[in-house]
Amino acid sequence: MWKYHDLNRRYDVLIIGAGVHGLATAFYLAKRGITNVCLVDKGYLGGGASARSTAILRATYVTPQGISFFYESLKLYEELAQELDYNLLFSQFGRLELAHTESAIYAARIRAEFNRAMGVDSRIVGPDEIKHIVPPLDMRKGKDLPVLAALFHPPASVIRHDAVVWGYARAVDSLGAQIHPHTEVTGFLTDRYGHVSGVRTNRGDIESGVVVNCTAAWSSSICEMLNLKLPIVTHPLQAFVTEPIKPFLSTGISSTNLHVYIYQTDRGELVVGGAVDHYPTYSHRSTNFRLEDLVSHALKMFPSLSTVNVLRQWTGLCDMTPDYAPIMGDVPGVNRFLLNCGWGTYGFKSAPIAGKSMAELIDTGLVPDLIKPFSITRFDDGRLINEKGAASSAALH
Ligand SMILES: Cc1cc2nc3c(=O)[nH]c(=O)nc-3n(C[C@H](O)[C@H](O)[C@H](O)COP(=O)(O)OP(=O)(O)OC[C@H]3O[C@@H](n4cnc5c(N)ncnc54)[C@H](O)[C@@H]3O)c2cc1C
Repeated sequence: MWKYHDLNRRYDVLIIGAGVHGLATAFYLAKRGITNVCLVDKGYLGGGASARSTAILRATYVTPQGISFFYESLKLYEELAQELDYNLLFSQFGRLELAHTESAIYAARIRAEFNRAMGVDSRIVGPDEIKHIVPPLDMRKGKDLPVLAALFHPPASVIRHDAVVWGYARAVDSLGAQIHPHTEVTGFLTDRYGHVSGVRTNRGDIESGVVVNCTAAWSSSICEMLNLKLPIVTHPLQAFVTEPIKPFLSTGISSTNLHVYIYQTDRGELVVGGAVDHYPTYSHRSTNFRLEDLVSHALKMFPSLSTVNVLRQWTGLCDMTPDYAPIMGDVPGVNRFLLNCGWGTYGFKSAPIAGKSMAELIDTGLVPDLIKPFSITRFDDGRLINEKGAASSAALH
């Protein structure tokens, strides 16, 4: 899939983190002809959050900046298998976000209006249509949190997370960039003006024209090596999968009130995820508390699943920003160092457009309009982008 290389002493671009974002950035750089590129990862390829993602893709965000950004990414994902010539197990089966209260319907209606105004296919559907799309959903009227309506987004999709990582890695390698797993960045090299000129690693120093931080949950630790404080806190996000069952769900479904989302894989397993845990940590340990929470909330939606066995549970780490929007671009006062982080619980779906935009920035020196709103300077300027309401993670962090 990708070749072993000796480490060169110097590259044009060095990317820290070979998850989906580092790989996508390297891929779009290579497509621009920039191939003297080195990707380093302290672990195995895609072994961070990218290995643990439930990989739901959608564009139903809240703000105009978020909607246009994630919509461009969804469009790139629709063509990605063909572009990489690699089967990514892309399934476009839509998604329902349930509303259980009048205020949730109001919020969903605003999102649908914003989405449609920006070309995204998303609309409000009522109980009859919901029942038609998801027959096993508990639609009883008198129950706690009854289903009143939903935001329906037909182009929402799911993709095989490790296939995306391998597909990008194979393409990056064949286009000439180098991938170096088990190469940990331990510090930075700076020139006499204080500009970043490379990194220190457990395999020696590497000089580079530009260094890009694509380390997600570890991005604030990397920045601390430069005495930079990022407004990012790392939280765990847990998910579980059941044993395979017969076809049960033909669309993805989520509930913000219940902090849970569910979809069925091609193999018949049900993937269930929810909100980030409220405590910050770098531990990948899963907890019974979160499992019970996710199971009980999933059963509120689908009581008929009560006899289905849980197969396995896992945890990944998410780099949460105060406004639930990412941080991309340069850092004032730190030359030749770029950020591609703050992805929180949304980062898999954004990788293609983030990588493409970062490659354009590195190549041209100009920040693409699409990512201008996501500059780190927004935290000083008070121009936050409130994407907190865009997922089932809302309100817990
Ligand atoms: C359970 C779970 C479910 C999720 N579901 C979804 C979903 O449905 N849809 C969605 O869009 N997003 C989802 N996400 C979020 C998404 O998976 C992440 O935002 C995304 O994978 C982040 O990719 P990345 O490449 O930025 O980071 P990562 O994949 O975490 O890669 C960062 C890499 O940096 C490396 N690194 C760290 N420190 C160093 C160092 N010092 N030197 C060298 N390398 C270093 C790490 O080893 C790691 O491989 C989910 C996340 C989790 C945990």
